[in-house]
Amino acid sequence: MFGSILKEQERPSLVYDLHATRHRNVGCPLCNNGNARVRFEERPYQVMQCNNCSLVYVTPQRDPVSLLKDLYETGIWNSTFPRYSGYACYTAENENLLKTFRRRIVPFTAIVQKPGKALDIGCATGCFLRVLQDDYHWDAIGLEPSAYIGEFGRKMNQVRILTGTLDSIHFTPHSFDLISLWDVIEHIPDPIQFLQSIHSLLKPEGQLLIETQDIDTLFARLMGRKWHHFKHAEHLWHFSRKTMDLLLRKSGFSIASISHKHAGKYVGYDFCIERTKRISPLVSFLVSAGKYIFRKPLYFNFFDEMVVRAIPLRNRN
Ligand SMILES: [Zn+2]
Repeated sequence: MFGSILKEQERPSLVYDLHATRHRNVGCPLCNNGNARVRFEERPYQVMQCNNCSLVYVTPQRDPVSLLKDLYETGIWNSTFPRYSGYACYTAENENLLKTFRRRIVPFTAIVQKPGKALDIGCATGCFLRVLQDDYHWDAIGLEPSAYIGEFGRKMNQVRILTGTLDSIHFTPHSFDLISLWDVIEHIPDPIQFLQSIHSLLKPEGQLLIETQDIDTLFARLMGRKWHHFKHAEHLWHFSRKTMDLLLRKSGFSIASISHKHAGKYVGYDFCIERTKRISPLVSFLVSAGKYIFRKPLYFNFFDEMVVRAIPLRNRN
């Protein structure tokens, strides 16, 4: 069993096969330019940093249609190579995800205690919807591009999930009190246009919650290119407090709060074993041993993910 971990092969070529799909070179979407330096390269991808605003981003990127069809429909939910793309088995983490969201929502208790209408975009199996619906009595609906994982969510969590994207499904303008994006914004090919669409769906006094990785953190710096969020096929942008603020202002929002304190995750051992293989086979081996000693889910917070609460500006520029 442990031997197979130690013999794990290096990065699978198929995840990074430029010939398997169409890719496009991109520049900084916040500055609309390509004046950037190469932070590091994992061929054929380059991790760039904008010389103007400091946004870190990946180029080339898959074209948006290929991202949706090839990667997000089924591939990332049962990934063969979860160290580099997706999850080994997302649905196996359902209970841990529920615990995670019950913890993540704590700083926003004052907001969610007054029920309203919520939209969780990229909701996957709908665990956040279930917490809003069952614990706080919200009228919560999810939007998920993958029909495959959405169907699991409807059955497992008894929540409403629409299959599609903001481009394919029409919602009534200014009809939501809360819109949430958990592990989503880093996957979106045009994040400014995406947030502008969200702006038009929120009520003027509505709230936007965004959780994403923060590259300007101690853990990210310590891990360097082995940081678990460097998944070049899917994590297109690596924001920091500064670049998140810029993104939101350009999209018509202002930041009300940013916190790393409640952004951790409960994870099962199998999830953890896969992720730590990226750091080293030895660390992964030790975690494997822990699985048979401790048996309980683990709570990890490396303080390298941020939860941002933003509010719409009255006049979007
Ligand atoms: Zn820039």
